[in-house]
Amino acid sequence: MNAPLVGVLSLQGDVREHERALVSVGARTCRIRTEGELSRVDGLVIPGGESTTMSMLAVRTGLMQPLVDAVRGGLPVYGSCAGLIMLATRVLDGRPDQQTLGALDVTVRRNAFGRQVDSFECDLDMPAVPGGPMHAVFIRAPWVEDCGPGVEVLARVEDGPASGRIVAVRQGKALGTAFHPELTGDGRVHALFVEMVRHG
Ligand code: GLN
Repeated sequence: MNAPLVGVLSLQGDVREHERALVSVGARTCRIRTEGELSRVDGLVIPGGESTTMSMLAVRTGLMQPLVDAVRGGLPVYGSCAGLIMLATRVLDGRPDQQTLGALDVTVRRNAFGRQVDSFECDLDMPAVPGGPMHAVFIRAPWVEDCGPGVEVLARVEDGPASGRIVAVRQGKALGTAFHPELTGDGRVHALFVEMVRHG
């Protein structure tokens, strides 16, 4: 596969930032709003934004079931922040009608870092991504409260009140981060995902 085609779910969220990051690591991109568009891609990114709104729009536009089917069928998928919530199997502090794709056997807690600290930045040790610490930006971020046995933990917060909390996971062809690598100009998480797509 030369340049894989990675779709970015474009119902809501920071679509452009993910497109830029994907292009910087050698992928082609397109925007996904319909089942037809989804059927053509080699991988899918679900951006940061607001998971309850994304869920509502996916249901309303009829895209939720095709998304569930695509990830169940093995389409490689990466979600950042709200995208991680969309990939989870269980959501705490979500809306009762919020739906997710169940690609990761994890429980996520929305807005987990608390109201006092809506946003923060820190460095993470993320051995799956070579090249030293990963500078991570969290914005009203979830964390992974617990995960099933098939889930690989890729990073945890190291210091402060949230020390030890899981913020990056992978299971099969699904990758999720609670932080936003699309906002920092560090393409290494996107490069990891594009590798997963290439070898998918
Ligand atoms: N709090 C948002 C949600 O629940 C996620 C925030 C983000 O993606 N930056 O979807």
